[in-house]
Amino acid sequence: MIKSQQKNIRYCSTRGEAPSVGFLDVALTGLAPDGGLYVPEAWPVLNQNSIEQFAGLPYHEVAARVISLFAGDAIEFPELSRMTEKAYATFRHPAVVSLNQAGPNRFVLELFHGPTLAFKDLAMQLLAIIMDHELRKRRQLTTVVVATSGDTGGAAVEAFRGCSQVDLFVLFPKGRVSEVQRWMMTTAASRNVHALAIEGTFDDCQALVKAMFNNQAFRDRVRLSGVNSINFVRIVAQVVYYFVAAVALGAPHRKVAFTVPTGNFGNVFSGYVAARMGLPIERLVIATNANDILVRTLETGEYHPRDVVPTSSPSMDIQVSSNFERLMFDAYGRDPGPIRAAMAELGHSRSFTLSEKALKEIVSIFSADRATADEISAAIRTTQQKSDYVIDPHTAVGMAVADKLEIDPRVPMIVLSTAHPAKFPDAVEDACGFRPLLPSWLAALESKGESFDTLPSNQSDVQHYIQGRSRAASEKAA
Ligand SMILES: *Cc1c(COP(=O)(O)O)cnc(C)c1O
Repeated sequence: MIKSQQKNIRYCSTRGEAPSVGFLDVALTGLAPDGGLYVPEAWPVLNQNSIEQFAGLPYHEVAARVISLFAGDAIEFPELSRMTEKAYATFRHPAVVSLNQAGPNRFVLELFHGPTLAFKDLAMQLLAIIMDHELRKRRQLTTVVVATSGDTGGAAVEAFRGCSQVDLFVLFPKGRVSEVQRWMMTTAASRNVHALAIEGTFDDCQALVKAMFNNQAFRDRVRLSGVNSINFVRIVAQVVYYFVAAVALGAPHRKVAFTVPTGNFGNVFSGYVAARMGLPIERLVIATNANDILVRTLETGEYHPRDVVPTSSPSMDIQVSSNFERLMFDAYGRDPGPIRAAMAELGHSRSFTLSEKALKEIVSIFSADRATADEISAAIRTTQQKSDYVIDPHTAVGMAVADKLEIDPRVPMIVLSTAHPAKFPDAVEDACGFRPLLPSWLAALESKGESFDTLPSNQSDVQHYIQGRSRAASEKAA
């Protein structure tokens, strides 16, 4: 076996100016100190036989096998298996994720059976377990700060509430998240959880988190960790369901394609990782709403963020798709030079242009298209009328884009369903005339008391707030 050679897995930064680190340091830090994103020094590859063996295994078992290739000897396999089993035990579906047929060779992969009804739970539940476990071992406290367009925040609150080593601060854009999303962040009633409404957009929240990471003094003082999809462990956890769904439809002997409702490029990047690992994926389709920076980039090569437009799919109302940097790193032959140049240019002149070669590399596996407000609404309505199946507006973006696309009809198209419709009842009501119900186990959410503070989109105010409430900071001061 070549296994022994692959045990010590190292991660490098996409910007090439940070030392390489191991899996658990990647889990605990999130962003690399040079502002880049961690990626493994080489992609692990699964042979056909190993992929075949995933057929019929419980989800947590496939998860342990896939993730072990990234953890190496940082987590012993039996320990990792216990962790994945615990992470997915909270899901309300016996298969964890559920693959449904929605039309001829069209499938919907439901990723919303976790505690906060969105796909973010699949990665966040596991990340919290890995982090808390390692922090206890190191006898360390940490401060997790996370920016959210709505769903990440709730998923982080559910995953980290009660974690003994972590204080969690969630920054959400005030007035731009749905009611259910807000409740999931503000009703946890756990002393280590703090919800902050920021007067700004999601991009403002994300910029605040990045700025705090780039402030070395603050970063050290509170022992800052990031759990946004810039945290590579989240990407790894999401790779699992691409394998599970593809194998259910006949992989590795049959190719499949995925359409992924996309914002920060974390989910669809996980699909790319699965492809690099050897899963035969015919095409990865990036589906966006009106916030279509990635569609424009694939069309023209120019990455040019515009102002964020609020839509009925708020978790995708993003113009700076952080994880795209990881794809660029590969597209430029893993040379950090052009990445540093592009990111510096983005800072100065608000845009950069991909080289012809890098763009060609990207479009060889990715396609991209946008869905308009009318198309999103129509997708919700027609899906409901045709099959009495209710989808949420994010999933509807994927369905609408998959309908417009021309790919080989023999290749099964799997649309990722990223949220439960009851999380976005207004969009469903506009399209179908009725409000979907929350699952009964969540019905009490509405009547729980909310607790959150409101702050301006200002770095020093937010840092001051966090520092005053972080146990890691007060432990250091003592
Ligand atoms: C976060 C989210 C997305 C976007 O996922 P990315 O990984 O940021 O591209 C899509 N749909 C829902 C419901 C989400 O919560």
